[in-house]
Amino acid sequence: MAKTIDSKIPEGLVAEKWTNYKAHQRLVNPKNKLKLDVIVVGTGLAGASAAASLGEMGFNVYNFCIQDSPRRAHSIAAQGGINAAKNYQNDGDSVYRLFYDTVKGGDYRAREANVYRLAEVSNAIIDQCVAQGVPFAREYGGMLANRSFGGAQVSRTFYAKGQTGQQLLLGAYSSLSRQVHAGKVKLYTRYEMEDVVLVDGRARGIIAKNLITGKLERFSANAVVIATGGYGNTYFLSTNAMGCNCTAAIQCYRKGAYMANPSYVQIHPTCIPVHGDKQSKLTLMSESLRNDGRIWVPKKLEDAKALQAGTKQGYEIPEEDRDYYLERRYPAFGNLVPRDVASRAAKERCDKGYGVNSTGLAVFLDFSESIQRLGIDEIRQRYGNLFDMYEEITDVNPGEKACTVNGVDYYYPMMIFPAIHYTMGGIWVDYELQTSIPGLFAIGECNFSDHGANRLGASALMQGLADGYFVLPYTIQNYLADQSIWPRLSTDMPEFAEAEKGVEAEIDRLMNIKGKRSVDSIHKELGHIMWEHVGMSRTKAGLEEGLKLLSDIRKEFNTNLFIPGAKEGLNVELDKAIHLRDFIIMGELIAYDALHRDESCGGHFREEYQTEEGEAKRDDKNFFYVGCWEYQGQDEKAPELIKEPLHYEIIKVQQRNYKN
Ligand SMILES: Cc1cc2nc3c(=O)[nH]c(=O)nc-3n(C[C@H](O)[C@H](O)[C@H](O)COP(=O)(O)OP(=O)(O)OC[C@H]3O[C@@H](n4cnc5c(N)ncnc54)[C@H](O)[C@@H]3O)c2cc1C
Repeated sequence: MAKTIDSKIPEGLVAEKWTNYKAHQRLVNPKNKLKLDVIVVGTGLAGASAAASLGEMGFNVYNFCIQDSPRRAHSIAAQGGINAAKNYQNDGDSVYRLFYDTVKGGDYRAREANVYRLAEVSNAIIDQCVAQGVPFAREYGGMLANRSFGGAQVSRTFYAKGQTGQQLLLGAYSSLSRQVHAGKVKLYTRYEMEDVVLVDGRARGIIAKNLITGKLERFSANAVVIATGGYGNTYFLSTNAMGCNCTAAIQCYRKGAYMANPSYVQIHPTCIPVHGDKQSKLTLMSESLRNDGRIWVPKKLEDAKALQAGTKQGYEIPEEDRDYYLERRYPAFGNLVPRDVASRAAKERCDKGYGVNSTGLAVFLDFSESIQRLGIDEIRQRYGNLFDMYEEITDVNPGEKACTVNGVDYYYPMMIFPAIHYTMGGIWVDYELQTSIPGLFAIGECNFSDHGANRLGASALMQGLADGYFVLPYTIQNYLADQSIWPRLSTDMPEFAEAEKGVEAEIDRLMNIKGKRSVDSIHKELGHIMWEHVGMSRTKAGLEEGLKLLSDIRKEFNTNLFIPGAKEGLNVELDKAIHLRDFIIMGELIAYDALHRDESCGGHFREEYQTEEGEAKRDDKNFFYVGCWEYQGQDEKAPELIKEPLHYEIIKVQQRNYKN
């Protein structure tokens, strides 16, 4: 019999589910909270907000991160902003509209009830962060300022220059520090979770490696929360920080947690193009730039050829010969179409030969019109640090005038191209953010929750902080309510000893391969396979070939890897090898999911399934579900698919339309 999944969505009207849930969930009384321990793995926006909130509530929290400070979590890199339905602009926003835009932006593949709750708590996040002192941009009169992000016709994005993630993380970190000082949160920096420990089928602890000494340590608790970010680095080149990894998520998967919708990977349209084969990192140019920047390529192929040959510059192409292709194809949303749509449109133009750099894989993002309209000071105030970052990397200043033609000033345009950026898929969680393993929760980017097949810009920070500040602190109590009667588990129990032994044996195995190839060289090859066969546009044949190549890469990894140094002490190559082992598993999961999903939706584009205009063509009759993958005991074995059907009560599922 096919396995079924209980997503625990509460009864009642969509708009009332969360209120009803909170009214009826089980609570933990203050005295019992003192007896309960919670492990939170991760100190990004999701982990730090959860750890601080749980500490404030009275639980004993153990909070882990791989960096030397919680403040260095990848969330610090977030540039553009965070969404909320405050409607300060009085431009027609509401909780319903944020909910609707998010479901539509995700190409109708998200859970309705989760997304409604996300929109509902979004406003509280802004209040919380302002109370912490997060310096959001303000209008002249003191109101918080907003800008627009893709997939919305209102301005609902709150921002702090191009450093929103950093400022939000400092806010969460100050709350966390308060709890550290109060003795409610104990921080373990430079510790990496290597396994989750199950006792009687429940998550009761973790095995973590002290990254400085190399020693393995055991930690027990009443519940474990995973907040370890996304798996974009499976592709080697991505906008993610170099340390981002999916090791904790994959260890949970190997212990029985389902992995949901892994093929939903976001390719961001505005990144600095790849410029050589020695690169290990790609740089994002925030989507906020699409508020004022216009994306274009030449109308004439001969102009594109001249740009590719370097005999012509972008600013030399007159206005009438420019194709603002997003404005042309999607008049209602223009440059602010969602990321999947903008990325595919850029690829389409480049595939047809209109690319604007020497590789033919770039389009222009041009600020000439907005600088004329608003002045360079205003534009620099909005995007100064992004312009500086672009100049630092490319030696081109997008705020510098290139020439004047017929009284019109032209500025040097940026060159951009799509790149791997965010992962909508992840550990499966129910409405309570609990995985398929009791007592194991997953929050932030590492879960699959709220974005369907495509995340809208500025919604990741919203989701991470919603999970950490406002959802998990309620739902985890429902689980913990009857746990205080159990004694604290000793880490001498056989389950802990066995898990530690397994990790130790695996480290020995990796150290003893003693082959010839560095971790990075194999990772780079993995990234190449992923981009070519499981990337922006996929086919059945390409995915089947990709799966074969992924199996070969695992063999290569298992037989020809070389890790210098010893397992004792600091060994970053060993740490990277552990991550790579798990990226290979994740790569296969992405490919299996993409292969089985015979439709295109959001970030998952199968060439066989597209409309005449080249838009993603969904198959709601056969694929209106969350695809959950279950581990089958061995890395080499294909995972098993379990379906969680989606049910929409108020949103009509239809073809996405950003044209009118
Ligand atoms: C360049 C860039 C710009 C972005 N800009 C925006 C934006 O403007 N708006 C928006 O909404 N979103 C944006 N995003 C997305 C957003 O930043 C992320 O989705 C979000 O910050 C993820 O937060 P998180 O807490 O889930 O994970 P992270 O911030 O990635 O934190 C992960 C934590 O887990 C820890 N960790 C990982 N593995 C282990 C392990 N095995 N053991 C112990 N600890 C571990 C890490 O140390 C870290 O503390 C951007 C992303 C990028 C790449």
